[in-house]
Amino acid sequence: MSETLENLSSETRQFPPPEALAAAANVKAEAYEEAKADRLAFWAEQADRLTWAKKWDQVLDWSNPPFAKWFIGGELNIAYNCVDRHVEAGRGDKVAIHWEGEPGDTRTITYAELLKQVSQAANTLTDLGITAGDRVAIYMPMIPEAAVAMLACARVGATHSVVFGGFSVDALSTRIADAEAKLVITADGGYRRGKPSALKPTVDEAVAKSPSIENVLVVRRTGQDVAWTDKDKWWHETVEQASPEHEAQAFDAEHPLFILYTSGTTGKPKGILHTTGGYLTQVSYTHNAVFDLKPETDVYWCTADIGWVTGHSYIVYGPLSNGATQVMYEGTPDTPGRDRFWQIVDKYKVSILYTAPTLIRTMMKWGDDIPAGYDLSSLRVLGSVGEPINPEAWMWYRENIGRNRTPIVDTWWQTETGGVMISPLPGVTATKPGSAMTPLPGITADVVDDQAQSVPNGGGGFLVLRDPWPSMLRTIWGDDKRFLDTYWSRFGAGADSSSSDEWIYFAGDGAKKDEDGALWLLGRVDDVMLVSGHNISTTEVESALVSHPSVAESAVVGATDPTTGQAIVAFVIPRGNVDTEGDAGEQLNVDLRNHVAKTLGPIAKPRQIMLVPELPKTRSGKIMRRLLKDVAENRSLGDVTTLQDSAVMDLISKGMNTGKSED
Ligand code: ATP
Ligand code: MG
Repeated sequence: MSETLENLSSETRQFPPPEALAAAANVKAEAYEEAKADRLAFWAEQADRLTWAKKWDQVLDWSNPPFAKWFIGGELNIAYNCVDRHVEAGRGDKVAIHWEGEPGDTRTITYAELLKQVSQAANTLTDLGITAGDRVAIYMPMIPEAAVAMLACARVGATHSVVFGGFSVDALSTRIADAEAKLVITADGGYRRGKPSALKPTVDEAVAKSPSIENVLVVRRTGQDVAWTDKDKWWHETVEQASPEHEAQAFDAEHPLFILYTSGTTGKPKGILHTTGGYLTQVSYTHNAVFDLKPETDVYWCTADIGWVTGHSYIVYGPLSNGATQVMYEGTPDTPGRDRFWQIVDKYKVSILYTAPTLIRTMMKWGDDIPAGYDLSSLRVLGSVGEPINPEAWMWYRENIGRNRTPIVDTWWQTETGGVMISPLPGVTATKPGSAMTPLPGITADVVDDQAQSVPNGGGGFLVLRDPWPSMLRTIWGDDKRFLDTYWSRFGAGADSSSSDEWIYFAGDGAKKDEDGALWLLGRVDDVMLVSGHNISTTEVESALVSHPSVAESAVVGATDPTTGQAIVAFVIPRGNVDTEGDAGEQLNVDLRNHVAKTLGPIAKPRQIMLVPELPKTRSGKIMRRLLKDVAENRSLGDVTTLQDSAVMDLISKGMNTGKSED
């Protein structure tokens, strides 16, 4: 394998920050210099944005790498920081959550109301025998009680493990078992695609297999029938009857806050452990800096589910610690119509919108006329997270949603990093469509070759983090060895072959530096294709395909090939209005392969293109290329437990067997 990744695409468009935004920005260019001059002092200053019951004695202890400790000796309560302190400061009447149910019912929750609910829930947890250090599983729809449950756990020092509400009995019960959770918090169901979707039956089955579970706390959301056991307690008969007085006790900065399993794009999910002080410091700072949050005037909306890390860091802990007003939406973007998102933006005058490339590409597919019918003038910052955003989707987002006015922040980070690591700052950075641009102040990211040497500008390779950061994962729950092997053994002191004493975190992603040193994420290195001796990233070929007017979305994999080692196989979803029958389909196929060759060079020309109606995605909307690779290489499918819709794979496999697009 050659040392670096090919840099094939080039992008010349650039968008400076709007002047007014830049002039009033929360974070200015000096922050980079300041953090560079003294990284730990910089993070200490950000930790001071929080309210500590006891100040720390030391910012970082990195004496036992890769096990970091931040803000040693410090004590704080996370729920106090996210709720009580805003009420104490006289902002109790400020709206914390504008909640919008899928059927159109709404709730408005102020910080004072949130304090009441979190305190009541904390008292109930205590009544149910939950004490600091216990684990609680949360399996909920997108209702305010999900956030209340997380905050109540944090308040009493219990470690929550949120499991996405669409996951199966097996996924839930293995996560319960792995964490040895004592309690599950759930609901009868939630609304999805216009009808109630039950959660409780899944919990019932999972609990039957989970000896560690003592109680199940159930919110009534849909009113549908539920089976009942003596472990079950209704939320409205316990939490809503509990005392609203609860004194929050401070916990050590390194007290475990939550376990969250990665989304499972590459294989078996990992139980990522996050702790208290460093985590809250970074998510609070980055939420303020990256979105330029003005808590008095902004209305913020993150469309992620609470079951993913984005929901943890940028629905619950970041925004609430900053006293933000936010929208929380229960349902799907196409219920009752495909305009639901824009209707919500218009209705609540959302000013900051944070969503995922998969959604942006879906909106592109649905058509420009849908957002065009709404007043989106309240928007002033747009964010993207979860996958590389293709330049084409970025431009669509800018033009059709941002109306050419608002900056876009493409934020790179992971469940493991806890908070945003690489992103533009909306008042500072001149952005390029498709680039996450630069590491945030206080973060040291680099792109290296297989010898851990920095690649020069214009080069591609492995994305690494060279210095510990406050919201870094502390370990994989119950598996220090997997933690070490997965993230720290590829480069630096953790790798056997290396004599370096530097500990280097390897993120698993490929990236390149452009001529100006801006960073471009190129997808997972496991997905990189080795074609005739060239390492080609899936992202670059996918972006080239999406830049063709007939293409809505694409996924690219490398399949074993007798002549070139690997050959590029592309799966393409055509735009809605494109004719793909008979000769037209054949012609499109030829055109697309030529289009890629012309855009990136002949080396990147796909051997084969499959026109498909859908792509396999995880529940968080990320493309699962490993399953497509199984199809392309005629293997039986690997682990599909995190797949969103298993019928998709049947459709794709069928098409593959009748496919005839080679020349
Ligand atoms: P698993 O590790 O179990 O395979 P996962 O990596 O999909 O699951 P997450 O932690 O949710 O689970 O996703 C983090 C990954 O998402 C990153 O490593 C990266 O590949 C991708 N990603 C997130 N944001 C961006 C972004 N802005 N640009 C490019 N890639 C991104
Ligand atoms: Mg990952």
